[in-house]
Amino acid sequence: MMKKNSEVLVIGAGLSGLMAAAKAVAQGRKVMLVANGMGALGLSSGCIDLWGYQVDQPDKVCTNPLEEIAKLVQRQPSHPYGRLLEILPESLDFFLQLCQQNKIPYVKKESNWQLPTALGTLRPTYLVPESMAVPDLDEIKGILVVGFQALKDFYPEVLITNLQKNAQLAPNCQLSSVLVNLNRQELNANTLAHLLEKPTTIEQVLSQIKPHLTSEMVVLFPPVLGEQRSVDKIFCEQLGCPVFEVTNIPPALPGQRLQRALLKHLKNQGVEVIMGCQVTAAQVADKSCQGVVAEGSGKKLEISAQTIVLATGSFLGGGLVSSMGEIREGIFNLPLYTSSDKWSRRDFLSLAGQPFNEFGVVVNEHLQPLDEQGEIVLENVLITGANLAGCNYPIEKCGNGVALASGYKAGKLAGEV
Ligand SMILES: Cc1cc2nc3c(=O)[nH]c(=O)nc-3n(C[C@H](O)[C@H](O)[C@H](O)COP(=O)(O)OP(=O)(O)OC[C@H]3O[C@@H](n4cnc5c(N)ncnc54)[C@H](O)[C@@H]3O)c2cc1C
Repeated sequence: MMKKNSEVLVIGAGLSGLMAAAKAVAQGRKVMLVANGMGALGLSSGCIDLWGYQVDQPDKVCTNPLEEIAKLVQRQPSHPYGRLLEILPESLDFFLQLCQQNKIPYVKKESNWQLPTALGTLRPTYLVPESMAVPDLDEIKGILVVGFQALKDFYPEVLITNLQKNAQLAPNCQLSSVLVNLNRQELNANTLAHLLEKPTTIEQVLSQIKPHLTSEMVVLFPPVLGEQRSVDKIFCEQLGCPVFEVTNIPPALPGQRLQRALLKHLKNQGVEVIMGCQVTAAQVADKSCQGVVAEGSGKKLEISAQTIVLATGSFLGGGLVSSMGEIREGIFNLPLYTSSDKWSRRDFLSLAGQPFNEFGVVVNEHLQPLDEQGEIVLENVLITGANLAGCNYPIEKCGNGVALASGYKAGKLAGEV
């Protein structure tokens, strides 16, 4: 078995793992990142939700998520934000700089964005990729929605019909659509995004859109403007008007672009990144992890590190594993908080959320895992992201916000050891 040693080992390549590794390496640490898959980021819209709704009135969108989180922490200190409130502004700044530096700029307003979705609903979120930063809808004079024949899950007429019901549009705002034909029998988001990086396809698309454009229009695309790189600027220049991607159901290219850019950044900074490798076991003694065993791509590694960041996510990421009547944390078998004996509610879209989303590891202010008595279980293991107990991200709209801030905090703590 090959042996490796690092100062910081991050397990997981979702947003929290990427942030932890980026912050730790920025502080001069020797960092290694191991992951068996891509996690939730490439499925998410790529937008960073911080907090979506008012704490007092959960059916109302909140404008200032930072103020709302401060309120939340007063009421519910056990929420992961209870450990992250103070570090939140600095973690957001770090992320914005990181994205700017890696040519994948994100845009922030003082309040939540209300972004149009492919279904014509409005979605509150806080940091958005530049390609998705649609201006306030009541200021837009005309909207052209571009769809693609054979592309599933994006129907311009659905977007237009529902947007007229859900959004406050400018009084004489004209909404129209065009269905571009690329002579394909079938198209999915990734194939289309790949095609749209080719100048010949761009030309084909432009020539079909131009006849539908009138002055002062904003053009909305599904989130497919480039796979490896964003090509929204090319469309913007060639059409002579603002062009944006709207959020859609998974998979989402903006999330994939962010993940790819951050992984590239880590490699450039000297982080050893090993993908396709699953951590299967850990050696533990005296409340400390001595090392882990990772297997994959025909390799078996024994990795030791001073600090280990457990950024393995929840059920989807693989950090929490469930079987009939049992849920466990997959590597260290850490004690878990499970909120009730009922894991799910019959009403899947209930405003109260699904209990299983809140399951996870309880931590102290240093993100160290605690047992039921509040004692530290492992001193050199820090827990981040969807692995943390007490967060119901689908209804709270805080998934990537918690991942970003907890990853940053873990990276900072690891960098200070
Ligand atoms: C479909 C979907 C859409 C979403 N949309 C949004 C959105 O638009 N905005 C938003 O803010 N939030 C969104 N969320 C929530 C948000 O994406 C997650 O809460 C957040 O990204 C979790 O990040 P993470 O780093 O904690 O975990 P994950 O992204 O799940 O990453 C876990 C990582 O750990 C790895 N891993 C797990 N076990 C092991 C192991 N034993 N060995 C090695 N590696 C391991 C996985 O392969 C993966 O790389 C969405 C979630 C889902 C599921």
